[in-house]
Amino acid sequence: KNITIAIDGFSSTGKSTLAKQLAKHLGYVYVDTGAMYRAITYFAMKEGFINSDFFNKKALIERLPSIQLHFEFNTDLGFAEIFLNNENVEKQIRTLEVSAFVSKVAEVSEVRAKLVEQQQAMGKNKAIVMDGRDIGTVVFPDAELKIFMTASPETRAHRRFEELQAKGDSVSYEDVLKNVQERDYIDTHREDSPLVIANDAVEIDNSYLSREEQFTAVLELVEE
Ligand code: C5P
Repeated sequence: KNITIAIDGFSSTGKSTLAKQLAKHLGYVYVDTGAMYRAITYFAMKEGFINSDFFNKKALIERLPSIQLHFEFNTDLGFAEIFLNNENVEKQIRTLEVSAFVSKVAEVSEVRAKLVEQQQAMGKNKAIVMDGRDIGTVVFPDAELKIFMTASPETRAHRRFEELQAKGDSVSYEDVLKNVQERDYIDTHREDSPLVIANDAVEIDNSYLSREEQFTAVLELVEE
């Protein structure tokens, strides 16, 4: 059966970890929609359309038709990596710099329309686990299972900080926390598809749940 599992929630709540685990266990395709918004942001940065002082939305909107995104499964990593116009940008999109601008890019309706359309096409006639902010509300309102993940901003900032440090990124915990809070604010206040919990979603606060506990809990929901 072509079951769709939608996983939404705030940034750094462990959505992608859970989604990857589930997809692997169930043999479903996993799609990280945040990577798509990040890749467009990376494009805008490279083209000089966005920096800390300004954002030339019009220029980005004009170039949207020339942006082509696709995923390729990497058997070593066990997940699909994202390609921007045929260039693997998986590493480039995970920096704090991209994180700092991505919510601004994700506010642009034209960007959302393009990505939502592609996401819907990717999920067609497939068993899929998709994570993001608007999957259960906009992309797949009829998803068989909707999960909404939350955790305190401090818990999330700690996780992100440790991830970035492990990669050798020299950032401070305070800057990471600030970024988490800023993204929460922008994501929940934007006009187009703000981050809200779907009324039929199951909320999971994983501040005090281990990965294993969380996985087991969600798997039970899938099997119901
Ligand atoms: O999930 P991740 O933290 O990588 O997402 C990066 C950003 O992309 C989010 O903070 C949000 O602004 C945006 N996003 C979105 N809609 C999605 C996925 C991500 O607006 N479906």
